[in-house]
Amino acid sequence: MGRVYNFSAGPAVLPEEVLKEAADEMLDYKGCGMSVMEMSHRSKVFDDIIKEAEQDLRDLMNIPDNYKVLFLQGGASQQFSAIPMNLMKNGVADYIVTGQWAKKAYQEASRYGKAVKIASSEDKTFSYIPDCSDLPIDEDADYVYICENNTIYGTKYKKLPNTKGKTLVADVSSCFLSEPHDVEKYGVIYGGVQKNVGPAGVVIVIIREDLIRDDVMEGTPTMLKYKTQADKDSLYNTPPCYGIYICGKVFKWLKKQGGLQAMKEYNEKKAKILYDFLDESEMFKGTVVKEDRSLMNVPFVTGDKELDAKFVAEAEANGFVNLKGHRTVGGMRASIYNAMPIEGVEKLVEFMKKFEAENK
Ligand code: PMP
Repeated sequence: MGRVYNFSAGPAVLPEEVLKEAADEMLDYKGCGMSVMEMSHRSKVFDDIIKEAEQDLRDLMNIPDNYKVLFLQGGASQQFSAIPMNLMKNGVADYIVTGQWAKKAYQEASRYGKAVKIASSEDKTFSYIPDCSDLPIDEDADYVYICENNTIYGTKYKKLPNTKGKTLVADVSSCFLSEPHDVEKYGVIYGGVQKNVGPAGVVIVIIREDLIRDDVMEGTPTMLKYKTQADKDSLYNTPPCYGIYICGKVFKWLKKQGGLQAMKEYNEKKAKILYDFLDESEMFKGTVVKEDRSLMNVPFVTGDKELDAKFVAEAEANGFVNLKGHRTVGGMRASIYNAMPIEGVEKLVEFMKKFEAENK
């Protein structure tokens, strides 16, 4: 069997072109006689890699000069602590809880200060995004926190919340670079890269400079202080070098595809194929409200657990893998990140139609 159609929520499919290039350079990166995995993070060669990656990301996202780009470790989950530790100056932050990841961030922030849940969609199993046009934003809130795309439930904010002037902090792990982001609307925009951007082990934090402070919460570990990382351009200690190198290649691949607006159009076209089928199928149903559907993660069910399991098993045998839904929700989930080709979705839908006809 060759490469499969991999619908994993993350770590997830990467562009084949990027993988091939990395394979070609594995033993000898550009004539330096070693792999990027083997070189010093202080070498000129690696310095060029990280600087070029940052510049390409800045070009792609149009990142203004007063924002720093940090390549860090610890995954997105570590940011659940770093954010309150660095940003809670008044000791208060507002959280909008739209899924497990936002909930975890909220719970973690509660350990460091007064985290206020100002809205939630937990009443309907996180199947929608609450109305965020006029929320009871705390006067003292240091920031308002959202998880912009909810990987497990398959919802996405189509409009950013009205933060009433407060700093917006967003986890974009599962929609990173899937469409343009207006960086200026955020104080911090961050994501683990293992879904849309690269291999696990790197988290990218884009942060407005005025939020990078020395007077962070007492007890904040040196490594979790944004200032430590910003002052040293992500090279305070050994960074996840190989991961950053692959992210850099993905940034170049995205530029070649035409940038983030082109990616958005491609992703919309791709998601529409699957959503249109779910809307007409008598067997498979989408699980979230239409207006809030994610372009990246598409959960669906048959309504019958045994049939779900049969579908997942038969899909796998036919080369469509990792379609099982998250353990907390069951059913199926197709993650269709940037690197999933449109043919992957077309063929999946063909397979679903065939399965439906055979299992009526
Ligand atoms: N936020 C979101 C939106 C996620 O989907 C995930 C992982 N699936 C996380 C945070 C946690 O990421 P990590 O495993 O890198 O800590």
